[in-house]
Amino acid sequence: MSTGPGLLFVVSGPSGAGKDTLVEALRERRATLRYSVSATTRAPRGDERNGEHYFFVSPEEFELLRDGGRLLEWRQYNGNLYGTPCDYVEESLTEGYDVVMKPEVNGALAVKAAYPDAVLIFLVPDRFSHLRERLLARRTETNEEIARRLEIAQQEMKFIRSFDYIVVNEQDHPEGAVRDLEAILQAERFRIHRYPDDSIRRVESS
Ligand code: 5GP
Repeated sequence: MSTGPGLLFVVSGPSGAGKDTLVEALRERRATLRYSVSATTRAPRGDERNGEHYFFVSPEEFELLRDGGRLLEWRQYNGNLYGTPCDYVEESLTEGYDVVMKPEVNGALAVKAAYPDAVLIFLVPDRFSHLRERLLARRTETNEEIARRLEIAQQEMKFIRSFDYIVVNEQDHPEGAVRDLEAILQAERFRIHRYPDDSIRRVESS
């Protein structure tokens, strides 16, 4: 029984909650899940590669994308611009692929406004103090940047009720959160409203 177009999963939550690691683990377990690579004006960090982790663009290039209507949503975050290119998402969903993306919280809400069918997942650490520990441990931001990210995180936590799911990323058991994300992906596929009407009718009359 076909469920029609692909599903859009938006994994959001504060910086340091573990979005990058968990989404990567999820993609390893689900080979057909497509990842929406964002555009950003931020400089590459560590071993990040262009086109894989982000499309690293200049502010001028970003403006061209934005003003040309090529971004599904965009936000300024901590002094840099981030946005979701729309073509890849649209094409993948139409072709029947599920797509995952990991914008910050306002971006996630903007995606929901554009795609009311999107599944919004809020990822939180088991303790707020773990955000700071994770950001410190990855050694990619200055102390000021970390402080700013934690301030933003406090604000972001206020939007938790606008999401469909909460997943807790326990510091010592990240595999639990990956399992939870997979369970959500699996269950969402079977929601009645996802099935085309003729599929439901066939079941009714069988
Ligand atoms: P980072 O600099 O740590 O890679 O990302 C900073 C924040 O921007 C994170 O919360 C990340 O989820 C968010 N982000 C990444 N890509 C996008 C995007 O395309 N749109 C929005 N709104 N936020 C993004």
